[in-house]
Amino acid sequence: MNIILLGPPGAGKGTQAARLVERHGMRQLSTGDMLRAAVKAETPTGLKVKAIMDAGELVSDEIVSALISDELVALPQTVGLIFDGYPRTQAQAQQLDQILAQHRRKIDRVIELAVDEDALVERITGRFTCAHCGAGYHEKFKLPRNTDPMKCDHCGSLDFNRRDDDNEESVRTRMAEYRAKTAPILPFYEARELVSRVDGMADMDEVTEEIEQVLRQYGAE
Ligand code: ADP
Ligand code: AMP
Repeated sequence: MNIILLGPPGAGKGTQAARLVERHGMRQLSTGDMLRAAVKAETPTGLKVKAIMDAGELVSDEIVSALISDELVALPQTVGLIFDGYPRTQAQAQQLDQILAQHRRKIDRVIELAVDEDALVERITGRFTCAHCGAGYHEKFKLPRNTDPMKCDHCGSLDFNRRDDDNEESVRTRMAEYRAKTAPILPFYEARELVSRVDGMADMDEVTEEIEQVLRQYGAE
């Protein structure tokens, strides 16, 4: 199955994608992760997008669609895909259809993570990840098992990172971008009867279970 996880920043897309990767061997395609890797490696793309990302604005459609297109080339068709943070505009949604068609793939389901905006600032400002393996944590909602010293549950690393753009000002811009440019792509998929809505305010495990139900319901098609 090829699915899109759609929801505002902090909705839990990355958290849930990581679980689907572990359970089903699917592949997570996060344009945010790809762009952060480009920034870190100081590639020409990375240098171009750093300030845009820090401000919480959207990078151009051409850049992100090219990243997705490049990733798909190397992926066998049997591997199910999870799009996380892409598409984010109407143009990207159309470009994604074209890219998938080139690989004889299609979107099987769009899972909308519905969340209260008020909760998102708290989720995002408390977010951190393992610097070594990238596992995601939260100061209040998901601390590592070992907190003194703080140690990654997955790889044992003692180093953790916070994103440069996980501050309140950037979060407000990212939410406004979501409302203005990303939420309006839902009708594009609703018209094709592809959207399932999941309560993203529920406990993380419950959200996973709801997503699993959607996959069971539509996976056999
Ligand atoms: P996104 O990828 O949509 O931006 P993340 O998956 O990174 O969001 O989640 C943002 C933060 O909120 C993370 O620190 C994560 O641990 C936490 N989080 C994710 N899902 C939930 C949930 N259902 N309840 C509480 N906190 C959550
Ligand atoms: P994310 O990791 O999904 O929260 O994305 C972090 C930042 O990367 C966003 O605020 C944008 O600046 C940029 N970005 C990621 N994905 C996209 C996309 N599909 N379109 C445009 N910009 C993106």
